[in-house]
Amino acid sequence: MVLFKSCPRCSGDRTLEEDLYGYYILCLACGYVSYPTIQQEQEGLFDADVDVKEKTA
Ligand SMILES: [Zn+2]
Repeated sequence: MVLFKSCPRCSGDRTLEEDLYGYYILCLACGYVSYPTIQQEQEGLFDADVDVKEKTA
């Protein structure tokens, strides 16, 4: 998936990539990295873990 001319730094083309930590958007021109809204869903999972710990404590 390529996001044409979407880079806030250089207005270059960016691509959606995925690694062990989730999705990120990488600029092919300057290497600028940003994170899509999918990242926020993972943060929500961490909040759920915190709630479980509070109940068991
Ligand atoms: Zn760029």
